[in-house]
Amino acid sequence: MQKFQQYINGTFSDGAAQFASIDPATGQTWAMMPEARVDDVNAAVDAADHAFFSPEWSSMTATQRGKLLYRLADLISENAPRLAELETRDTGKIIRETSAQIAYVAEFYRYYAGLADKIEGAYLPIDKPDMEVWLRREPVGVVAAVVPWNSQLFLSAVKIGPALAAGCTVVLKASEEAPSPMLEFARIFDQAGFPTGVLNVITGFGAECGSVLTSHPKVAHVAFTGGPDTARHIVRNSAENLASTSLELGGKSPFIVFDDADIESAVNAQISGIFAATGQSCVAGSRLVISNNIKDEFLSQLKQKAEAVVIGAPDDMATEVGPLCTEGQRKNALKLIEDSVELGAKVITGGTAIDCEGIYFPPTIIDCSNIPDAPCLRNEFFGPVLSVVGFDTEEEALKIANDTTFGLASGVFTKDLTRAHRMIRGIRAGIVWVNTYRAVSPIAPFGGHGLSGHGREGGLQAALDYTKVKAVWLRTSDDPIPDPFVMR
Ligand code: NAD
Repeated sequence: MQKFQQYINGTFSDGAAQFASIDPATGQTWAMMPEARVDDVNAAVDAADHAFFSPEWSSMTATQRGKLLYRLADLISENAPRLAELETRDTGKIIRETSAQIAYVAEFYRYYAGLADKIEGAYLPIDKPDMEVWLRREPVGVVAAVVPWNSQLFLSAVKIGPALAAGCTVVLKASEEAPSPMLEFARIFDQAGFPTGVLNVITGFGAECGSVLTSHPKVAHVAFTGGPDTARHIVRNSAENLASTSLELGGKSPFIVFDDADIESAVNAQISGIFAATGQSCVAGSRLVISNNIKDEFLSQLKQKAEAVVIGAPDDMATEVGPLCTEGQRKNALKLIEDSVELGAKVITGGTAIDCEGIYFPPTIIDCSNIPDAPCLRNEFFGPVLSVVGFDTEEEALKIANDTTFGLASGVFTKDLTRAHRMIRGIRAGIVWVNTYRAVSPIAPFGGHGLSGHGREGGLQAALDYTKVKAVWLRTSDDPIPDPFVMR
């Protein structure tokens, strides 16, 4: 049985307690994890706070911070196979996906390494002749980063990278569902040469560890990725200290296919959009909005491909769909499907749990056309379930696409350029992919509208969000200050 440790103030330790982590491919405990309780959380925040004000970090040049981030990126590249293996073991995410994703995580750190000394202030052409006024961009302070279990190395990179580039310090709370990749990441971070306490990595349960961290008076910003219900707790917690928040939440993203689309390409993109990562992706294209002119043909090709998907052990390179991370997700999928079928939805393929060891659920397609309130269309599954709705006109397609409380991602498949532009304008989401799906880059911002959250991760803006502007006024005149009772 493997055992992992938390990382506080540059030291590895056991938490206040230990808890078991389950291998979703077998349903068995495979490792023990350190559970951070109040004292551990307070120690981690104190360490980050102390590091933030320490001369080793606060006086370090931005260029030097960038060099440390480059070193960290290189260490991640070197250790990518081990990190991928751990993420696969702990979450059940297939090794094909974790290997590729973690190799790319290093690029996010490289992007923010390069950005560190390009976070510039500004000079203001102020309307007073005897004043020089400029803006300094300063780090916000201690950041609490809270991540869900899926793609933790990636979701933490888009927080830790810009936060450290900006000069903040971080306490990262790994998900209790599968913390091992983040706890191993701490060991890699430890070798990069950052001053002590700049990053602290803990894990534990939301109600205690997460709450104490996100309501801590020394935390200036909470960067959260997870579900909308947890986000409401986070916002309430952050109100204690009036900390700022960035919230990356769930989605029910529309994947819209017009009848002039390249069908083969759209089918492949839809397969990737909903079945890759076993559907456990915030940007999953989980609502197929399809022209009724091609619906039958499209669904027939889609069904054929969905049924040919290789389901298997997540650590097998041949596997395309692995287990779900938690039993709760499987129960949720079964309930949503059952409730939708009761309203008249038709299961085209899949729909029932696979009877085997581990938490497996098959690629599922369910037609919910003309049932706008089908739970399958309204709720996030976080599993390989595609809900389908047909449309007749472009206006109808847009209306269906926007008929959701979420607004994270979207896909449009058409060869008609002017229609593509109308859809790009009309869709209410943080990402529109046209004739492609699920493309990401450190250079492009990522985030949502509505219940998908607010704030953006990735790109330059994300680094600026970890800074505050300080306006500096310098009087250039040696004359005495005139009338002290008049504001100048
Ligand atoms: P979750 O919301 O249950 O948990 C996320 C994290 O919040 C965990 O670390 C958990 O311990 C912590 N937490 C729970 N209660 C808390 C509290 N009261 N105070 C502070 N922290 C608390 O999410 P999950 O089930 O682990 O992940 C799935 C969700 O994450 C889905 O909704 C998915 O769409 C979303 N997600 C969003 C993105 C994105 O970038 N938009 C990416 C991946 C996942």
